[in-house]
Amino acid sequence: AESRLVVVRATPISARSMFLILRDITEKERVEEMRRDFVANTSHELKTPVGAVSLLAEAIESAADDPDQVRAFASRLTAEASRLALLTSRIMSLSRLQAADELNDDRDVSVDEVVASAVEAHAIQADSAGVTVVRGGERGLYVRGDPQVLSEALGNLVANAIAYSPSGSAVGVGVRAVDRIAEIAVTDRGIGINEGEQERVFERFYRADQARSRRTGGTGLGLAIVKHAVQRHGGEVTVWSRPGRGSTFTIRLPLVDGPMVDEPRKKRKK
Ligand code: ADP
Repeated sequence: AESRLVVVRATPISARSMFLILRDITEKERVEEMRRDFVANTSHELKTPVGAVSLLAEAIESAADDPDQVRAFASRLTAEASRLALLTSRIMSLSRLQAADELNDDRDVSVDEVVASAVEAHAIQADSAGVTVVRGGERGLYVRGDPQVLSEALGNLVANAIAYSPSGSAVGVGVRAVDRIAEIAVTDRGIGINEGEQERVFERFYRADQARSRRTGGTGLGLAIVKHAVQRHGGEVTVWSRPGRGSTFTIRLPLVDGPMVDEPRKKRKK
C-alpha cells in the first residue's frame, strides 16, 4: 500500500480524487481477496469428492473377483461422480456470474417462461420427493435480463424448497407485480432456517446444518448463485423463514416498462 501512496502523491491531485483513487484500490483489493477466498474454498470442497472417487476406483480394482463388492463400490462411485459434476457446474455458474462479462442480459424476459422452465427442470426431483409444485399469481410480466441465468436462479430456489420439504407437502411459486417490481416467491412448508442463519445461507458454501445438507447432497452454492444472479439484474433476494414451519424466498426484479401483456416488446425494439 505504501508504494501506491507514493504514486498517488506524485501528481497534484485534489483530496476528492485522492479519496476516489484510494477507494478504488480498496475495492480492487476486496475483489481480489474474494477471488482468492473463492479459489481456496473451492479447492477444499473439491478435495473430498475427488478423493472419494480415486479411493473407490482403487477399491473396485482390488475387489475385482467379488462381483457384489464391485457393484456396491461402483454405485458409490457413480454417486460421488455425479456430486462432483454438480459441484463443478455450480462453481462454473458462480464464477461466470462473478466475472464482469458473458452475461447475455439485454433481453426482455417473460417471467412466465422463467417460472415454467425453473419448475420443469425440477419436475423429476419433485416427483421422487413426493412434493407437489403449484404455480400461481400474475401472468404476462416481463423483466430485463438473461433468461437462462434467471431460470437457473429460480430453479435453485425451487430445488431447495423441494429438498427441504417433507414428502406429501406442496411448494408454491407465486408471481406478482408491486409498483414497478416483479416479485417471484417460492414458499415451502419444510424444515425452515434458524433466524441467526438466515443471512448466512446466501454465502458461498454455507449450509445451515451439515447433516441435513449431506442428506440432500447440497453444495452450499445454490443460494450464492441466486444472490449474484439477481444482483446482476438489478434485483434482490430475501428470505423469510420459521424453523419447523417453512420458508419463503422472494426474488425482486425491476419490471420492463411498457404494457405488461404478452408480446409487447417487438414493437418497442429498434
Ligand atoms: P445447498 O446446496 O446446501 O442447498 P444452498 O446455497 O442452496 O446450498 O443453501 C444453503 C443452505 O441454506 C442449505 O444448506 C440449507 O441449510 C439452507 N436452505 C436453503 N433453502 C432452504 C429451504 N427452502 N428450507 C430450509 N433450508 C434451506
